[in-house]
Amino acid sequence: MKHMAMIIKCPQCSKCYGEKDFTPGIDLYCSCGQKILFEPEQVFAQLAQICDEYQLKIEEEKIIQIRKKADKIVALIFNNQCAKIDIDIEKQKLKALIEHISPDKVDLYELIYEPRFNRLWDQFRKSEDT
Ligand SMILES: [Zn+2]
Repeated sequence: MKHMAMIIKCPQCSKCYGEKDFTPGIDLYCSCGQKILFEPEQVFAQLAQICDEYQLKIEEEKIIQIRKKADKIVALIFNNQCAKIDIDIEKQKLKALIEHISPDKVDLYELIYEPRFNRLWDQFRKSEDT
């Protein structure tokens, strides 16, 4: 049976140990003096940490994606060649994007983006409203 390669980090100094460093029945001590345990609890704790970091990264990418789209809409508002209808379509797309990638953050659109777009519109394009 093939084992999955596991890396155990010293909780004190973060030095890494592999499965091959462990001898059954003999305690392993890190050069910093910390006892290194090769136990499921420790392995699972590290896996959970990796998952958390991965989740954070996904969250970050989602936020960047939303922000880029919002910036694009701001640019469209500044561009007086761009018709209001096209901006409204982009706004709907942004809302749909937020709903799609972060359903729990859909309030963000109504609370932050919509008022911001409206304010910019009033400031720069108001004269076009009839
Ligand atoms: Zn150590």
